[in-house]
Amino acid sequence: EAKGAGRGTCRFFDPAVETRLLHRHDLAQDLQQSILRQEIVVEYQPVFDLKTNAPVAFEALARWDHPERGRVSPADFVPLAEETGLIEEIGAYVLAQACLEASQMSVPLRIAVNLSPVQMRSDGIFTTVMDALKHSGMPPSRLELEITESALLADSDRVAQLLRRFHDEGIKIALDDFGTGYSALGYLRSFPFSKIKIDQSFVREMTTHPNSAAIVSTIVRLADQLGLDTTAEGVETEDQLTLVRAAGCREAQGFLLGHPRRRLSDFVMPGNEESNKIAPRLLG
Ligand code: C2E
Ligand code: MG
Ligand code: MG
Ligand code: MG
Repeated sequence: EAKGAGRGTCRFFDPAVETRLLHRHDLAQDLQQSILRQEIVVEYQPVFDLKTNAPVAFEALARWDHPERGRVSPADFVPLAEETGLIEEIGAYVLAQACLEASQMSVPLRIAVNLSPVQMRSDGIFTTVMDALKHSGMPPSRLELEITESALLADSDRVAQLLRRFHDEGIKIALDDFGTGYSALGYLRSFPFSKIKIDQSFVREMTTHPNSAAIVSTIVRLADQLGLDTTAEGVETEDQLTLVRAAGCREAQGFLLGHPRRRLSDFVMPGNEESNKIAPRLLG
C-alpha cells in the first residue's frame, strides 16, 4: 500500500491522512448516536411565490448539533450518513418531524423534504413517507419530495415506478439542483415531476454572466411548456431577484428572502398577511 512512497506520491503513514481517518471514524460513530441524543434538528427555509410575494412552501433542511464540534453542515454529514446507511434513519426522522411541524401550522403551506439517492434505493422508502403522512395527519398534497438527478441514474425503471406511486398518492416531486448534473431532458418526460428547482450556481451568476441568465430563462420556458413549476434557489440580492422574476420563475428561495430557521411559527403569523410577504428584514 506504500507504493510510490519513495516518490512521495502516496504515504500511508501521512499523519494528516491518519488524523482525517480517525476524525471520520469518530464522526461516523457520533452520527450513529445523533438521533437518540436528539442532535439532528430540522430548519425551515421559506419559498415565495413571485406573483403574490407570499410564502407558499418551506424546505426542511437537516442540521446536526454536535456536542463538541458544534453545528455540522449537511454538506458534511449527509455524505457520511449515506456511506454508513444512517441516512435512512436520519431521513425518516427529518420526514416525520417536517410533516408533524407542518401539520401544526396555522396556514396550510407545502413542506419540501430532500431525499437522498440512497433513501430512494431503499425498499422501505414508500412506507416511510406514507407513515410520516399518516402519523402527522398532513395531506399528501402538501408534501413535496426533492430529489436530485443522481437518484435517477441507477435502476431508473424502479425509481420511475416509485415516483409514480408517490405521484398517485398526490405527493409532489421536485427535481433539485437542476442544471448541475447531466440534465438529460428525457428525465423530464419519464418521471412525474411537478417542479424544477434551478440550481443556485445559475442564479448567482445571472447578474454577471449573460449566459447564466439565458440558461435560466430557457429552463423556465421549457418548464412552462411541460407544465412544470420553477423555483430559483439561492437568491441573495435584489438584482438576482429582479432577474429571476424577469426570467419568469414562479417561485424563489434564498437568503435575501429568508434564512433557514428553526421554527415554522417564526415565519407565518396568522392575521398578519402583509408581514408574511417578501420582507427580507423581517425574515432575516
Ligand atoms: P439543497 O436541497 O439544494 O438545499 C439548499 C441549500 O442552499 C441549503 O443548504 C440552504 O441553506 C442553502 N441556501 C439557501 N438559500 C441560500 C442562499 O441564498 N445562498 C446560499 N449560498 N445558500 C443558500 P444546506 O442546508 O447546507 O443543505 C445543503 C444540502 O444538503 C441540501 O441542498 C440538500 O441536498 C442536503 N440536505 C439538507 N438537508 C437534508 C436532508 O434532510 N436529507 C437529505 N438527504 N439531504 C439534505
Ligand atoms: Mg433541496
Ligand atoms: Mg437545491
Ligand atoms: Mg444543493
